[in-house]
Amino acid sequence: MSANKTLFPAVEFPAIPVRGEQGAYPVHRIFCVGRNYADHAKEMGVEVDREAPFYFLKSPLSTVTSGLTLSYPPGTANYHYEMELVVAIGRPAFRVRTTDAPSVVYGYAAGLDMTRRDLQLDARAKGRPWDLGKDFEQSAVVAEITKAEDFGPVGAQRIRLEVDGQVRQDAHLADLVWSVPEIIAHLSGFYHLVPGDLVFTGTPAGVGPVIAGNVIRGEIDGLEPVSLTIGAAE
Ligand code: MN
Repeated sequence: MSANKTLFPAVEFPAIPVRGEQGAYPVHRIFCVGRNYADHAKEMGVEVDREAPFYFLKSPLSTVTSGLTLSYPPGTANYHYEMELVVAIGRPAFRVRTTDAPSVVYGYAAGLDMTRRDLQLDARAKGRPWDLGKDFEQSAVVAEITKAEDFGPVGAQRIRLEVDGQVRQDAHLADLVWSVPEIIAHLSGFYHLVPGDLVFTGTPAGVGPVIAGNVIRGEIDGLEPVSLTIGAAE
């Protein structure tokens, strides 16, 4: 079969700026870890699963860069922020060991896993997939990537989020239930990870709703902050 010209222009996937690089990091897939801070699992009324991490995915096309004003999304009355460390994969990885996992990390970024909490909880209660709550347009906000060698070991860094200058989330990356190498090792048993794959590593306690006019700012020590202004509903 010959390669035909596409019937309409193919979608161009988003790319994320990288500190100190001219070129941007093209997004291929977005994996998200659920319940990866014990205090957040508790506030959601569930236990951390210590047998293995679990995941949901967002479309790469849901990626947006930091610093924008985004419309309040459709279909929800409970739009939440979740501040997260985002891992950018830099090398192909399949069935990697935890000890080898750090070598496949390209870099790290501050990210927001924006969530339609009412739709997520409704789906959870009914045993349905979380897609409507998690995988929607402009739901993955990612700030500039910092290369792994410029960030250093993950652990002591503080992860914080403010809404209109008020602190809502404040924890340390050492609080992650599943560490970055453990997540990569586990995930690479199910997928052939490739450069362009992002992993949102979960959010600490303190998630909550935002409304039009709110300004979100998230920080992780050593990384470019992530920010988002909530606009009016369309
Ligand atoms: Mn999350």
